Amino acid sequence: MSFTVEGSHVQETEDLISSSFASHGTSVEKDATTGKYTVKPYTREFIFQTEKKIPKVGVMLVGLGGNNGSSFAGMIIANKLKIKWNTKQKEMQANFIGSLTQATSIRLGKCGDEEVYIPFKEILPMVEPTDLVVSGWDINSMPLGDAMRRAQVFDYDLQQQLYPHMQKIVPLPSVFDPSYVAANQGDRANNVLALPKKEDQVNKLRQDMREFKEKNGLEKVIVLWTANTERFSVEQDGVHDTAKNLMEAIRRNESEISPSTLFAIACILEGNPFINGSPQNALVPGVVELAQIHKTFITGADFKTGQTKIKSVLTDFLVSSGLKPRSIVSYNHLGNNDGKNLSAAQVFESKERSKKHVVDDIFDGNPALYEPGEQPDHCIVIKYVPYVQDSKRAMDEYISEICMGGVNTIVLHNTCEDTLLAIPVMLDLVVLTELLTRIHMGEKTNGGEPEMHNFHPLIGCILGFLLKAPQFPKGVPTVNSLFKQRLCLENLFRACRGMNTRTCMGLNKMFN
Ligand code: NAD
Repeated sequence: MSFTVEGSHVQETEDLISSSFASHGTSVEKDATTGKYTVKPYTREFIFQTEKKIPKVGVMLVGLGGNNGSSFAGMIIANKLKIKWNTKQKEMQANFIGSLTQATSIRLGKCGDEEVYIPFKEILPMVEPTDLVVSGWDINSMPLGDAMRRAQVFDYDLQQQLYPHMQKIVPLPSVFDPSYVAANQGDRANNVLALPKKEDQVNKLRQDMREFKEKNGLEKVIVLWTANTERFSVEQDGVHDTAKNLMEAIRRNESEISPSTLFAIACILEGNPFINGSPQNALVPGVVELAQIHKTFITGADFKTGQTKIKSVLTDFLVSSGLKPRSIVSYNHLGNNDGKNLSAAQVFESKERSKKHVVDDIFDGNPALYEPGEQPDHCIVIKYVPYVQDSKRAMDEYISEICMGGVNTIVLHNTCEDTLLAIPVMLDLVVLTELLTRIHMGEKTNGGEPEMHNFHPLIGCILGFLLKAPQFPKGVPTVNSLFKQRLCLENLFRACRGMNTRTCMGLNKMFN
């Protein structure tokens, strides 16, 4: 590691970084008669322990043969082999641009007159992306070399170089339920588990994970759903509500349990973290309870990549400047298989939900601008236009009220290769999820050593920067604002390393 931290609050051994951290918060009380609030600042002392040894990690992608799946595998291989290729303009080199962990920095502080920054990935020991072993499932049997060509994401010259390496990777047969995706996906399904019972399907997925782990000598496996968006499961009491009911429902072969929920359950039972990169409600309450029982991380939903990332920044800017958005309209068209699947109404609804709620907390937390429950008009449109392939078009219009009856209209047009924004985000989710499995925390109380715990299984509250609709533990308020989400991650890791968190107050520069 490129730096050490000094101080009695932090100890580093060969295996462990231990730090204590004072967290300053405020509690608020309301006087029942006057309605007046009293704010009471408090301090809580936490201990963090981070295991330093980076395990050998495998990633299993559900939807390995899709645009994201094949391109993710290609990105890892191209970086491992340091592949260079020619485009029309210039020679390119494999990279991880767009990854928070691999392509951004963290400020350490001032060294004389010099500002010192380190790559984000050096704040704590993180797995090297090129050490990841990649495998997974797809309902389509196409080997990954051909799947990469079908995706039309990479430049031709890069495809040619990757092809022999990728063609060796063949997706495992998967669980498929056509009622959960668009009918137009049926012709892809030629690699489906011939197991009619859901219980047998879960057991087979568990066996696949164990075999992958053993065959590759892995210490940890992380599973990431990057398969088709599914429609929402209709959550029912007695089926989805508790861990026990869900497991019994699987034994009864209940129909309203989605493939993504079955994958989540198989992962939890194997102790492998499960990340849901699509918007559907895979993590129903019974799954969350099961994950708590087995102390396994689950997170989702939906990668936060292009348009939604901009939305969570732009809306935050407008509202925190005191401008009042009244209408947000987001229009997209795309021509890849994801767009084709989203053209079915039920599936589109899942996407619409995750895209819509991304700004709710920004309005809810601003009583100076909005009445309780007041929200701007918010409309999402997605159209399938095959010709544009993976090059997604996003057009957004934000109309806000400004001072004294004025109106501010912002219109954006964004053209971008959808998949090439998503794969670095997938990488970050894997790298950071793995790191979080090695961090334990406890609270110092007056007597004795603190009891150490893992984080709550719903780590979306930490990884919200990477997710459109991060699922938070009950009682923890949702935060969608992008830079708050980034600061959350950075500050958590600074605290684990024994560094002060960033307040951005710049106090040392304020003296005359
Ligand atoms: P894609 O259609 O190219 O790939 C999905 C793959 O999943 C296909 O190969 C399909 O055969 C496979 N599949 C479908 N059902 C399966 C199942 N039950 N088990 C295993 N495999 C299955 O789509 P994509 O562009 O790779 O996107 C994947 C997912 O990521 C989509 O749900 C999309 O909404 C989500 N997502 C993508 C982005 C982005 O920017 N690319 C952003 C956010 C979310």
